[in-house]
Amino acid sequence: MEKEKVNNSRDLYIGIGSNLSNPILQLNKAIKFLSQLDKLNDIKSSSFYESPPMGPSDQNNYLNTAVMFKSSESPEDILKLLKDIEFSMGRKKSSVKWSERIIDLDIILYGDLTYESEFLTIPHMYAHERAFVLFPILDINPDIFIPNKGFAKDLVKNCLYKNIKKIEK
Ligand code: ADP
Ligand code: MG
Repeated sequence: MEKEKVNNSRDLYIGIGSNLSNPILQLNKAIKFLSQLDKLNDIKSSSFYESPPMGPSDQNNYLNTAVMFKSSESPEDILKLLKDIEFSMGRKKSSVKWSERIIDLDIILYGDLTYESEFLTIPHMYAHERAFVLFPILDINPDIFIPNKGFAKDLVKNCLYKNIKKIEK
């Protein structure tokens, strides 16, 4: 049964961001939580990247990274797991779009799956145009393809928010 599940699994890419309360610490903490969801213990992670906020400018720079592991959970269940981690790490609800946050966990890609519901879009709606998403997923897989959009290595050439730098963890 377990073996069958593994065979049905897809590569799950999760984007992680933070700009509050020591973002390096928060990203590492989130990676630790996410590694507990990885049944095969084969989680891969990218470098950390710093970039200016894309929303209101009166907030700290953001730190972003990504992880990838194999999963066979349903998209909605994965979203719920991510929301639980955000909540347990102290994420507060804000009515302001793109406002500062202690942690943000987004489903970037789930293999070649495309999924659309009221609460969830996979691939992530803006993944293909954001440097702070594309750089991390390219670290993990230089040949990564975003369904309906193209290869990340091509998309990154003309993407937004290119003022980004790799940082020491
Ligand atoms: P954002 O990540 O856009 O800054 P939030 O983290 O508050 O903002 O997410 C807002 C909502 O986006 C979530 O509650 C979730 O229902 C929805 N959403 C849609 N697609 C995705 C996705 N691929 N990954 C995570 N959340 C998503
Ligand atoms: Mg989010």
